[in-house]
Formats: sequence, structure tokens, C-alpha cells
Amino acid sequence: MRSNTYAYRVDDGIYINLTNQCTNACAFCIRNNGDGAYGSDSLWLEKEPTAKEALEAVQALFFPGCKEFVFCGYGEPFMKLDVLLETAGFLKQLYPKLPIRINTNGHGNLICGRDVTPELAGLIDCVSVSLNTSSSSEYNTLCKPVYGGKAYDALLSFAAECKKHVPKVQFSVVGDYLNKFQLAMCQAVADRAGISLRVRTYIGKNGQ
Ligand code: SF4
Repeated sequence: MRSNTYAYRVDDGIYINLTNQCTNACAFCIRNNGDGAYGSDSLWLEKEPTAKEALEAVQALFFPGCKEFVFCGYGEPFMKLDVLLETAGFLKQLYPKLPIRINTNGHGNLICGRDVTPELAGLIDCVSVSLNTSSSSEYNTLCKPVYGGKAYDALLSFAAECKKHVPKVQFSVVGDYLNKFQLAMCQAVADRAGISLRVRTYIGKNGQ
């Protein structure tokens, strides 16, 4: 089922769904597991939103105690960088005290063909980059990036560049897909980069 769910609530945050396009095909992607996540009926879009439409969806969902905005998906937010930046600008004007995070696969500079990280300055408070593995070969197996062998090194560089322009940068991995050794190797990659590592659990249909 497709709909136009441009914003949805997760705990105390409002998540923003700009696109279903992505440059990976991860084994654990929630897009492989039905139409919904986090209790939202469908995050498959009939039409990608404009910034105004995304903002209106956030405003319709806004609740007292909302603590953050997160560009997330069902897709890779950097596929729609212009809309993302415009929406973030609107949100910063209307809700200047609330932080804005992007959850990304870290391919932004490959997608856009330039270093886009300076454009995040002053608009984005946190970038969470999916590290997923500790090597390019494992990454290619698990995530099947359209960029092939370039993707893993590119996401490491992207995260390093983000650190220059965004107050908080973190890596994330899906703990269910890693054994203890692999997890330790990912931690070592994060430590070398000087970036914290968040181990998250798999999110399937309806956020389980
Ligand atoms: S990067 Fe995210 S949206 Fe893209 S395939 Fe992987 S889990 Fe799905």
C-alpha cells in the first residue's frame, strides 16, 4: 500500500520521510519487510514531498514535548538534499530550540557529486551515519551499494567531513547482524575516526 506519510512519530521525535530512493539495498532494510514501521501504515510514497508539504506534515503531527526532528526514510535523505535543506530551514525558523538529525547511509557526497557537508552547517545538529560493517568487502555483501567498492571509504570520509560542520556525528550498526568480533571491529573503526558508535536493534515491520 502506498500513501503520502511525510512525517511520523517515533517516541518523542518526529521523523520525516522525503523519499524511498536509496543507493543501498541492505539485507536488514525495513523496506523489505512490509509497508509500515513504527506503527505508521505505509512509508512507501506515491509522490515525494516538497519542502512545504513536508513542513505541513510535521506541523500536523507536532505535539507538546516533541524533542527532535529526524530525516530518516524509508529511503536515503540525501537523495533529496535540496528538499531536506529547505525543510530544515523552515523547521529551524519555527522551532529553533529543537535539534534536527539526519539518519543517512553516508553516500551524500557520492550522490551529489560534491562535498555537501558545509551546506549542513547551522541547519543540522546531528548526523548519524550507518557504518554497518568494519570493512568494504563486508559492507558490499551486506548493503549492496550501487557505488560498489567506493561506498565504504566514501562513508568514512563523509562522516569525517561532517564533523567539521555539524555539532554531533555518530556511527550506527545493527547489532543483530554482527557477532562480538565484528562489533569490536566496528568499534575500532569508530574509535580511529573519533566518532561514537551506536548499536541499534533491528527494526522490522511496525517498529519491532
Ligand atoms: S541505507 Fe537505509 S534505506 Fe537504504 S537500503 Fe539500507 S537500510 Fe534501507
